[in-house]
Amino acid sequence: MAVTATRLLDNYIDGDWTPARAATGELDVTRPATGEVLARVPLSGAPDLDDAVRAARDALPEWRAVSTIARARKLFELRERLVARSDEMARSVTTEMGKTLVDARAEVARMIEMVEAATAVPTTMQGRILEDVSRNIDAETIRQPVGVCAAIVPFNFPAMVPFWFLPFAIACGNTFILKPSEQVPMTQQIAFEELHALGLPPGVVNLVNGSREVVEGILDHPGIDAVSFVGSAPVARIVYERAAKAGKRVQALGGAKNHMVVMPDAVIDKTVEGIIGSAFGAAGQRCMAGSVVVTVGDAHEQLMPPLVSASRELRVGDGLDEDNDVGPVISCTARDRIREWIARGEASGAKVVLDGRSADGGEPSGSYVGPTILDEVSTEMDIAQQEVFGPVLCVISVPSLDEAIRVVNSSRFGNGTSIFTESGSSFRRYRHEVQAGMVGVNIGVAAPVAFFPFSGWKDSFLGDVHAHGTDAVEFYTRKKTVTSRWFSSGQGSGTYFVER
Ligand code: NAD
Repeated sequence: MAVTATRLLDNYIDGDWTPARAATGELDVTRPATGEVLARVPLSGAPDLDDAVRAARDALPEWRAVSTIARARKLFELRERLVARSDEMARSVTTEMGKTLVDARAEVARMIEMVEAATAVPTTMQGRILEDVSRNIDAETIRQPVGVCAAIVPFNFPAMVPFWFLPFAIACGNTFILKPSEQVPMTQQIAFEELHALGLPPGVVNLVNGSREVVEGILDHPGIDAVSFVGSAPVARIVYERAAKAGKRVQALGGAKNHMVVMPDAVIDKTVEGIIGSAFGAAGQRCMAGSVVVTVGDAHEQLMPPLVSASRELRVGDGLDEDNDVGPVISCTARDRIREWIARGEASGAKVVLDGRSADGGEPSGSYVGPTILDEVSTEMDIAQQEVFGPVLCVISVPSLDEAIRVVNSSRFGNGTSIFTESGSSFRRYRHEVQAGMVGVNIGVAAPVAFFPFSGWKDSFLGDVHAHGTDAVEFYTRKKTVTSRWFSSGQGSGTYFVER
């Protein structure tokens, strides 16, 4: 895909690329590593969304009439197409979002895994039947598509998060509208080129670029039946309340503050690797990033020296350079906000044992923050409670596992958490008590694979059915229960048990 500084991105509506016809403005898409402008994204208006909704509604009967197995086969083909362009997509992710190529390749692999999981739809969409719920009466529950489904997604996974929804939605016979993040709209242009090449009926998948106006249009639009959101907690709440008020099915995945508990019996070198990958990978901009380490007893003195020295060694710079370990954060605005958070943490009494505020990645126009570690943090500090969304790790020391669990559960968030230990009993206590939707054991980023559901608890998630895995079919189908009898079928001829 050729990129020029002046390229204005198109929407994809009704089977074709089309310029926004009612844009209220345009934004630069900026490469965070250098500050270079990559393209411009239109802020589409209500008429653009109307076009997409109309196309998606019109496509419903034709798409639903395609057999479930044929829909799955389209996804097999899509998988091959995405695999063929996976390197290009990974480079696109790194270019527009900033994470390193290693991280971007892992993201694209997980994106493709979503398509693989969705191909199971001829099995996962099956209903249930029970013969003879009453004499000569049968009951069955079947699953049918919900209708037009939309997804609103964040900047930090330009390839993967849209695919938490799209393949599952269309596999189940729904049609789909994506509103990408206006900060990273380019990778989905590649994905939609491949969706276009699949030859789906026009309107089955649509892409509308934009920001708040498109989101609000999606939430209110009577032609949209279900909404999935991934992003920050305040917007998740707006989306959840407004979409529910409009009578839509809705799931809203919000922000996070993820804790990593380190027990005194943890394998320290592996724990250090796990914590660094979690806290500083993608420059801390993952919803599953560990941002608070809770050390128990003398784990603190074992952990801190190797953790600080290994973090200090990380190379900060352009993610396209494979020698670098930590790329830029998404924007200069984000960089300045993260630097302010570090200053606030310090002012509230935390000890800055590694300071990334002056890192510039060798590129002064880029938006860099280096790995930062704040020790002697307490739960009362804002920095221990609020999402910073950057490479900033807080350390809290406690005397016991009980106290560690209390710290973790005091958070208003409950997305992911990890425990590092070799003790089965500590692990079991932790799994039983901890208030979070995803738990890792000796794993820094316990993001479930595509075949399992993904989501947090508490302020990290509003809704009931989680994303992908088995929950996806739950979200993207409506259950219909049919009770039936046939007067002419009689009571059975008695030949079932044949005498031997
Ligand atoms: P964001 O909330 O700013 O934006 C998310 C989407 O909402 C974007 O498409 C944006 O255009 C739209 N939006 C932003 N402000 C809006 C408003 N006022 N009204 C309507 N729509 C609005 O999030 P972000 O900065 O792009 O992403 C980072 C956040 O996403 C972090 O909080 C992170 O934890 C969260 N996140 C959560 C998960 C999860 O699974 N829980 C996964 C990835 C990211």
